[in-house]
Amino acid sequence: MSDSYDVIIIGSGPAGYVCAIKCAQLGLNTAVVEVSSDAKGAPVFGGTCLNVGCIPSKALLDSSHKFTEARDHFSVHGIGVGSPSIDIAAMMKRKDKIVSQLTGGVSSLLQHNGVTVVQGRGRLLAGRKVEVTDSDGSQSVISADNVVLASGSEPVTIPPAPTDDQVIVDSTGALLFDAVPERLGVIGAGVIGLELGSVWGRLGSNVVMFEALDTFLPTMDTQVSKEAAKVFKKQGLDIRLNALVTGTRVENNAVTVTYTEKGEEKSAEFDRLIVAVGRRPRTRDVFSGDSGVTVDERGFVFVNDACATEAPGVWAVGDIVRGPMLAHKGSEEGVMVAERIHGKAVQLNYDCVPSIIYTHPEIAAVGKTEQELKAEGVDYKAGSFPFAAIGRALASGETEGFVKIIADAKTDRIIGAHAIGPSAADLVQQLVITMEFGGSAEDLQLMVFGHPTMSEAVHEAALAVDGIAIHMPNRKRR
Ligand code: FAD
Ligand code: NAD
Repeated sequence: MSDSYDVIIIGSGPAGYVCAIKCAQLGLNTAVVEVSSDAKGAPVFGGTCLNVGCIPSKALLDSSHKFTEARDHFSVHGIGVGSPSIDIAAMMKRKDKIVSQLTGGVSSLLQHNGVTVVQGRGRLLAGRKVEVTDSDGSQSVISADNVVLASGSEPVTIPPAPTDDQVIVDSTGALLFDAVPERLGVIGAGVIGLELGSVWGRLGSNVVMFEALDTFLPTMDTQVSKEAAKVFKKQGLDIRLNALVTGTRVENNAVTVTYTEKGEEKSAEFDRLIVAVGRRPRTRDVFSGDSGVTVDERGFVFVNDACATEAPGVWAVGDIVRGPMLAHKGSEEGVMVAERIHGKAVQLNYDCVPSIIYTHPEIAAVGKTEQELKAEGVDYKAGSFPFAAIGRALASGETEGFVKIIADAKTDRIIGAHAIGPSAADLVQQLVITMEFGGSAEDLQLMVFGHPTMSEAVHEAALAVDGIAIHMPNRKRR
């Protein structure tokens, strides 16, 4: 192993490993430092996303969705399967296999691209030197022309509900239950709460969610969050707003939660409690005080639009910097930084980063919400189209929700898109592409969409922007 590189990346999550591969593709001598290791002492690549985040949660969401399909929806198609059962051990084994397939894939890709893997905890020192501490405590120092910090994030903990990895767990623990808890409490009705609450709710848990705010999904477009609240209520998720947990007591493998709801003191008992109140950047011990790296007022590493920190030649990407904590946002920051190091002034378009909640139906969004545009005083026009009027949605029995498109009133350029419903994530991605190309509502109106597809909801929503939808009566006219 050399002690000098063109680029050293600290962390191999989706931000770090993608940056490493891109740097290597550009011909840069690249090393990635990773602290996580498996039982055999081998490095574990892929970070939160592949190991305890996006991938295992989606594996469980898909398994639990198939279970509800068999239990609740097959009979209408004339398919009889009796009363389906769930084998949790088998479901977890499938999830673990997918995770190891993908993390092994990252390992092969790093190797294939000639990236040097340095095992241990990396810490940036002054002068773009990186101190690496091995699991046995031994230390070495390597250096580079450029260092990229990509150490990710970790779950936020709250004093009234300390996790014990048994009864009170964070998102990682909630991916490991060995049985379906009969009574499941969730603190935080955000993305993780909704996704993991859905997994266990579908499999039979009675789920109660405690949300401190008085608004459900406040960053989503209000029309979407209202529809989502209705849908989740129908699915049996008991979401309590304005509910602040004040304490927990664990006894006999159960937990009593005390909380105030709309000012009134209450308590409830659960078999398991998931704490999902947000994540914080993992910056502790990642850089020394004299490294020149600074953090902003919320503890994120301070970077400019191109992810450069205040220290020359030091960059930071992914969950440790401002913006949404999303795998794809971090990966594209990794690509941008690699290109910049190589001398090309690529700029990521932060206005076009989609976000998705993988419940059923899915919820997806890109760009501005109506409430944001109102607050900013922007003149806009919006149109939405319900899946209930889409032939393919009816054929699939997936009629909940709608696609909504928002365009600038003067230029007609699309500035926001929001969807709740079947394939919402993939439909919103069509709008991401349109927005990236500076497309207008009229561009979509004049395009041919395959029939019968869910995508027709995108076409009709674009038409509805100008009050000219074909397959529903229009409230407004051009
Ligand atoms: P991480 O993935 O956290 O990776 C950081 C890496 O750095 C880790 O491997 C860590 O071991 C290593 N590291 C840390 N410190 C050091 C050090 N000092 N030295 C060496 N190595 C170090 N996002 C989505 O876009 N879609 C989803 O569907 C989605 N689902 C999620 C579900 C759950 C349950 C959770 C918890 C998160 C989910 N996310 C999802 C968020 C996503 O996982 C993160 O945004 C993403 O993993 C961040 O990538 P990162 O590379 O910045 O950090
Ligand atoms: P979140 O910010 O989405 O939701 C946390 C919720 O907890 C918020 O609604 C907040 O108001 C509430 N809350 C905070 N403190 C509370 C308290 N004391 N009592 C009750 N409620 C409280 O955070 P998360 O769900 O933990 O997810 C963390 C991050 O991981 C998110 O930023 C998200 O981007 C990422 N993630 C993404 C996906 C995805 O892309 N599908 C999935 C999971 C996680």
